Amino acid sequence: MPETNGTRPAPPVTNGRLAAALLALADAEEPGGRAARDYRDAAAALRQLPADLFGRRINILALPHVTPRAADALGAFLACGSDESISDRLAAILDREDPARERKRDFLTRADVDRILSSAGDGPAGLADLRADLHLHTDRSDGTLSLADLHRALRLRGDRYAFLTDHARDCSVAGGLFPADFAAQARDVARLNEASDGELLMLLGAEANIAEDGTLDVTPRTVPQLAGVVASIHTGLRSPRDQTARLVRAVETPGVAVLGHPRGRLYNVRTGVRADWARVFAVAARRGVAIELNGCPERLDLDPRLARLANEAGCLFTVSSDAHAHRHLDFQRYALAVARLAGVPRERVVNSWSRDRFVAWLEERRAA
Ligand SMILES: [Zn+2]
Ligand SMILES: [Zn+2]
Repeated sequence: MPETNGTRPAPPVTNGRLAAALLALADAEEPGGRAARDYRDAAAALRQLPADLFGRRINILALPHVTPRAADALGAFLACGSDESISDRLAAILDREDPARERKRDFLTRADVDRILSSAGDGPAGLADLRADLHLHTDRSDGTLSLADLHRALRLRGDRYAFLTDHARDCSVAGGLFPADFAAQARDVARLNEASDGELLMLLGAEANIAEDGTLDVTPRTVPQLAGVVASIHTGLRSPRDQTARLVRAVETPGVAVLGHPRGRLYNVRTGVRADWARVFAVAARRGVAIELNGCPERLDLDPRLARLANEAGCLFTVSSDAHAHRHLDFQRYALAVARLAGVPRERVVNSWSRDRFVAWLEERRAA
């Protein structure tokens, strides 16, 4: 767990540490075998529990997706009494330090998020301050929601505006949109906005892919229907080479409003790219480009430590879900918890702004 910044302290044993330890056990088992699956399933379940297990009288075996094998391991780790002691115990079991420890560092579980957001605090943005989600996918790229269903879900939640950010076709991640598809999407978005009687204003953007040389596959200059883009890296994420120039070039591209999931890290998979973050954040702050706090629990990118650095650099932020499905819309809470840990003041969270201010800011990014 990262430092707490005025939020309620974490218990001595966190669900996050327990889950990470279970995953280390899984990695030591035969890949694809029953034991590995038991540990993995239990770890995934733990990361989604609404409260920390430590100190609660609870039948571990009654937890969802926890088999007797996983329950035994959990019981032993809980008895360690602290996150640090779990590390020692794990090292003794594995006969070495957990080799994947770095890939699981500074992530938040649902229990962490609930604890952080329930802490009283003035200044940092709260859930009630959010008026929009600014990183959203539909089934026109790699999401599952139709455009109409997404629009409806956001409107019912009471969002005032939204930034739609499907991938463009060039992106290696998933089938995206061709320029002509964006024109059709623009018409559909306009129709849905009109039908919502001004309740929700969806703005058409895209998640532009940052190539290894820092150029983008789509911008408002190449696709004039776009109000702006979230620019993100999706390739070369394990490169040992410094990626500062790549990220800076993207941030300096007209039409880029947000630098999306800047590190490209993935829980228990990769730590993400290396860069001179102070420099990237300084350029973003100077150009008024927002740094994304991506709430997808597997990404949580930026992590709280780098988010604090970006905050100190004076950056703007977006608190976004990167939703690819309806249930992902809730991921904004994870991003908000990071904002709170980093001490981000409310006025620097772009999606707490009024609709007019947001639209004007996008316009400035296009002209910049
Ligand atoms: Zn992405
Ligand atoms: Zn995305």
